[in-house]
Amino acid sequence: MAEVFFANTRCKPHRGMEVKLGELAERVGLSEVIGRRDIVAIKTHFGEAGSTAFIPVLYLRRLVSMVKDLNAKPFVTDAGTLYVGSRSNAINHLLAAAAHGFTQETLGAPIIIADGLKGHDFVEVGVDGELLSKVKIASAAVHADALLVASHMTGHELTGFGCAIKNVGMGLGSRGGKQQMHSDIKPNVNAEKCTACAECLRWCPAGAISLEGKGKERKAVIDQDKCIGCGECTVMCFEGAIAARLSTSLDVAQRKIVEYAKGAMKGKEGKCAFFNFLLHITPACDCWDFSDAPVVEDIGVVASRDIVAVEQASLDLMNEKAGKDVIGGIYNAMDWTAQLEYAERMGLGRRDYELVPIDE
Ligand code: SF4
Ligand code: SF4
Repeated sequence: MAEVFFANTRCKPHRGMEVKLGELAERVGLSEVIGRRDIVAIKTHFGEAGSTAFIPVLYLRRLVSMVKDLNAKPFVTDAGTLYVGSRSNAINHLLAAAAHGFTQETLGAPIIIADGLKGHDFVEVGVDGELLSKVKIASAAVHADALLVASHMTGHELTGFGCAIKNVGMGLGSRGGKQQMHSDIKPNVNAEKCTACAECLRWCPAGAISLEGKGKERKAVIDQDKCIGCGECTVMCFEGAIAARLSTSLDVAQRKIVEYAKGAMKGKEGKCAFFNFLLHITPACDCWDFSDAPVVEDIGVVASRDIVAVEQASLDLMNEKAGKDVIGGIYNAMDWTAQLEYAERMGLGRRDYELVPIDE
């Protein structure tokens, strides 16, 4: 059974969260994961321009300093996005990161966009999954010796929740890889609900939506050939007229993300550690240009060497804190457990775990 270490949000003099992160790293055995002179990718998400709930720079800086203390060489990383936003190429991505306070100076380590200038730098990795035999992983992640994953727990419109598995799987896929993961998600417009407000047109990064018809018959229509399956329109339609809640395709997307996560960690068996930050847990992910109010009170940070166990423990802690199924309450038509079940089946880790609190 995997151990998951848990630091709650309570702090006191000389034992703030930065200190507690050090204790978590010690308990998780970071010195066994990271060897002397290892090049260590610290995978995070710098937040889309406008979002505010991403992991604070001070916590990432602490992770960087712990890696340096082990005489290893850390770099902080993420890969470009599929959609047109503030992080779709490396230049914009670095500028967006800097705007949120993430720079070499503040982090104490360089930032390297893992899939290069335009998302074309990737390595094909064999995963022998149920859906994909090979995946396209951002090259800097593949070439790193070890992987330290810092994930902010959020709800997610396509996967129910997004944390370590999504941070690694979707997050370290190259642009082509992200396209592959999204390709089965093709939303449709419910014409009866559509008011032709055109909000979805503004947000669609692929120009796949148009308004057709006249007068009361004027409705949004999605060109399924142009749609890249990013799912943005499903959230931006406040009339609830666009549904991507096709459980089969969403299940496929979740399983592909797991296969990508397997690819990103391949060759790094025993060389990965995961820190999930259960702080300001928003209903939608940090890829949006806003951060909504949290859906549950802040919980703390969990850490493990098992990516499945750390996710399961994070979700259990959320539900325990809220006294209800938090993700199920937001995305009730989605079976968000699919990614955990499949990750366990693919051998990424185990859903049973022992929670070890580090506070008294
Ligand atoms: S945002 Fe919704 S209501 Fe507005 S045009 Fe698009 S589908 Fe119709
Ligand atoms: S999912 Fe929606 S927003 Fe994304 S490309 Fe398709 S139609 Fe456009």
